[in-house]
Amino acid sequence: MTETLTIALSKGRILKDTLPLLAYAGVTPIDDPDTSRKLILDTNQADIKLLVIRASDVPTYVEYGAAQIGVAGKDVLLEHDGTGLYEPVDLKIAVCKIMVAAENGKSIDQPRIRVATKYVKTARRYFASKEQQAEIIKLYGSMELAPIAGLADCIVDLVDTGNTLKANGLSPVEHIADISSRLVVNKAAMKIRHEQIKQFIRQIETAVAKKK
Ligand code: AMP
Repeated sequence: MTETLTIALSKGRILKDTLPLLAYAGVTPIDDPDTSRKLILDTNQADIKLLVIRASDVPTYVEYGAAQIGVAGKDVLLEHDGTGLYEPVDLKIAVCKIMVAAENGKSIDQPRIRVATKYVKTARRYFASKEQQAEIIKLYGSMELAPIAGLADCIVDLVDTGNTLKANGLSPVEHIADISSRLVVNKAAMKIRHEQIKQFIRQIETAVAKKK
């Protein structure tokens, strides 16, 4: 029997879009991930297990080899420092953008600005790349509140329809990057278990192409 392949999945919105792709690739969890309280799910394939974890923890599980494969948003990967990951497939799910947003009509064209965000590294890199001095303030949620409450001049956040910004009197002002979920693979596992992992990657690539 082949060694167990452990796949770390991001909870929430990404999980909802990942399960149909896994199903296309022939992998279905035995318990319903939406209702099960299990953190490790068995699948219809005896040698494949799923971990359902917080999105920002996925790269860590894969980098340390606790999972050989993971599904993570590019937003999370941009914030992750590690070098132990390959990113072989763009799954084209949970597509959105990471953007700078400010109050309607307000410019962020100032020599020094305050930026509130959960995406500290991405924001720091972005403002450094355009040589604008930025004080980055780390928040854990509800970023839209920061400009309204006077905490920051702008925010860096994920934008899909733009409705959340709009509902809070904010507008997108600058585009930082396009975001979608990616398949990530532990580099050492890719070497040691090449055949098994390559086969899984091929199945997922086919699933992504079929879904289009
Ligand atoms: P929207 O109102 O459609 O622009 O959605 C914006 C909110 O939904 C943001 O505050 C994000 O936190 C969240 N969001 C949108 N797209 C994604 C995604 N692909 N992954 C995770 N969160 C997202």
